[in-house]
Amino acid sequence: MQLVKPYMSSPDALVDAAPAYLGHYINGEEVPDRSRTGDVFNPASGEVRLKVGLASQSTVSAAVTAAAAAFPAWRQTPPHKRAQILFRYKQLLQDNAENICQLITAEHGKVIDDAHGELGRGIEVVDYACGISELLKGEHSKNAGPEIDSWSEFHPLGVVAGVTPFNFPAMVPMWMFPMAIACGNTFILKPSERDPSPALLLGKLLTDAGLPDGVFNVINGDSDTVQHLIEDVRVEALSFVGSTPIADSIFTRGSAKGKRVQALGGAKNHAVILPDADLENAVNALMGAAYGSCGERCMAISVVVCVGDETADKTVAMLQNKISGLKIGPGVDAANDMGPLISQEALQRVTQYIDQGVAEGAELLADGRGFSLAGHESGFFIGATLFDKVQPDMSIYRDEIFGPVLCVLRVDSLGAAMKLIDEHEFGNGTCLFTRDGEVARYFTDNIQVGMVGVNVALPVPIASQSFGGWKRSLFGDLYVYGPDAVRFYTRRKTMTQRWPARSVTEKARYAFPST
Ligand code: NAD
Repeated sequence: MQLVKPYMSSPDALVDAAPAYLGHYINGEEVPDRSRTGDVFNPASGEVRLKVGLASQSTVSAAVTAAAAAFPAWRQTPPHKRAQILFRYKQLLQDNAENICQLITAEHGKVIDDAHGELGRGIEVVDYACGISELLKGEHSKNAGPEIDSWSEFHPLGVVAGVTPFNFPAMVPMWMFPMAIACGNTFILKPSERDPSPALLLGKLLTDAGLPDGVFNVINGDSDTVQHLIEDVRVEALSFVGSTPIADSIFTRGSAKGKRVQALGGAKNHAVILPDADLENAVNALMGAAYGSCGERCMAISVVVCVGDETADKTVAMLQNKISGLKIGPGVDAANDMGPLISQEALQRVTQYIDQGVAEGAELLADGRGFSLAGHESGFFIGATLFDKVQPDMSIYRDEIFGPVLCVLRVDSLGAAMKLIDEHEFGNGTCLFTRDGEVARYFTDNIQVGMVGVNVALPVPIASQSFGGWKRSLFGDLYVYGPDAVRFYTRRKTMTQRWPARSVTEKARYAFPST
């Protein structure tokens, strides 16, 4: 049954007519702050789509004040009542999926089917958060000592904030806020300034679902805005997803201010292909994992390590063949496989890496530089790129390029492949293609990476697991969503109560109590 009417406006109704401007969402209302603005582009046309407000200190403070004011009542709202709002929210997200995905494609550039995939994974987290009554039940020990019962409860932290990257403008915020608010916190989201519109629609739909004003707020902005959030002592915790240098810095700066911080960073995800792999399926999976979303995914496969020259020769030939059939164009056309990069700067950066790969001596088998699309000459398009015979000391191997550039390395054993992965700075995701269960088990058991696939190129955990990497792909202890989110967004309180019989008088005891 549909409880609330879907949000019927067209996506562009969120934006003032002229000049197109997107503000903030505080206390259930759109709030302008035009003191500073940034440009939001349509990456397929290269044109400025709208101006986004970059929140000043006073706007950040207003959002924190609204969230702090909403917290006392929200934390006392029974978890099953919070879940009822999330159930309605899930329905609204599904009813408005097309609107949300059009906004994602308009500002990020990804193909519309890919945007639906992103939203679907976000909705899964809302689904999981609907079970919050079960997740918050706590732990009880009866008769922990004579007439003593002990139990733990999980209390919300208060005002918590999330800072998110451009590459999943709906899903990554949804990794955070559904669980944070289900746990009884109030939330401030600072989405990427490059594609901010989906976040505002997500906020409006929460209001439509019945969420009290102030429980969820969106402030748009840049690094200065984030600094204001870090400085505000009323913000108890910070979830961050973005590049590694910023994640590292946010973790240090936030922790120094006494906040609880989880900061997820960048990646360089390796796929290993063994000689016994089902190559046709492996290569199909690699195409999607390397070039889907123009390579702008933290779980994208950007390195293929082939064991043996024969495996490498076959894999490379099949990849080249499939790359020549790749359809590149605007994301609004669902027939395309790959849209543009996010910005002109990203286009320059990825192009420079390809130049560097050539200069460093890697073999360039598919060259995406100079790709041009009739009618979209100013769009941020680039073609799929493939390098063979890449060496571990090359910058195209070491650095996260975050574009459609796939590097093939050749080794002579699984051990050598695993050594490469373990020695890399990042440890987000990896995948092994094989038909050998014993070898797969050895790989999953020993590899130094947080999310591991076997014959699954993008092993993004489902909502009831948790998502996070190892090494410099995650700063902090707890992953996002799943059971770790309950731990991150709550504080444990442990009670010990004794109710002795009234007739007994006890002597003072000076030894430390033991049970
Ligand atoms: P980014 O680090 O440039 O920006 C992320 C967020 O941080 C944005 O909201 C931005 O406004 C803010 N920010 C930028 N500079 C800041 C500063 N100096 N101080 C405080 N905040 C600052 O990342 P991006 O380019 O938007 O996203 C791509 C990166 O995100 C890639 O490195 C990708 O691997 C990573 N990513 C990681 C995961 C993961 O789960 N590990 C998921 C998605 C994306």
